[in-house]
Amino acid sequence: MAILPIVTYNDPILLERTESVKENSDELQELIDDMFETMYNAAGVGLAAPQIGQKLQLFVMDADPMTEDSDQLDLGPMVMINPEIVSTGGELVGYEEGCLSIPEVRDEVRRPERVELKWLNREFEERQQEFTGWVSRVIQHEYDHLQGKLFLDHLSAFRRRLHRKKLSTIDAGDLPCNYPLVPRQT
Ligand code: ZN
Repeated sequence: MAILPIVTYNDPILLERTESVKENSDELQELIDDMFETMYNAAGVGLAAPQIGQKLQLFVMDADPMTEDSDQLDLGPMVMINPEIVSTGGELVGYEEGCLSIPEVRDEVRRPERVELKWLNREFEERQQEFTGWVSRVIQHEYDHLQGKLFLDHLSAFRRRLHRKKLSTIDAGDLPCNYPLVPRQT
């Protein structure tokens, strides 16, 4: 296994749409292992393939740290291959989010409380399930990455402007970070 460097804010790959994973392979399984190691090393709860430079519909997550979310069973590490949102529902709930690709920037994002997702697990078996609370939020955040969308895109222009200085520091590759980042091309 290997810790992969994470792509940061303003890298074009984070703005592109991803392609579906065509088949299971040793390379795919290795990539999934590397993504988990990369995520845990950065103390993250989710990591999407574009964040390590792969244009694939794939994300990994381990959203259990917020255990006060009593309505959701402990899920443990999960792999979502070719995920599709079947439906969202419930109230819009605001909660502070961050992103491993946008270190040290956090803000409140409003998202639907529930999400029903269809996906393939790492054995390539079809799964469908409804999620709520914190897990639902992590899924929606990671799913956004596969559509070339960042949590910043949910913020008002005013809120985004408040982060401008830090974002330009990240963009310039000048932000110190305790996990490896992809160096910015100049
Ligand atoms: Zn993210």
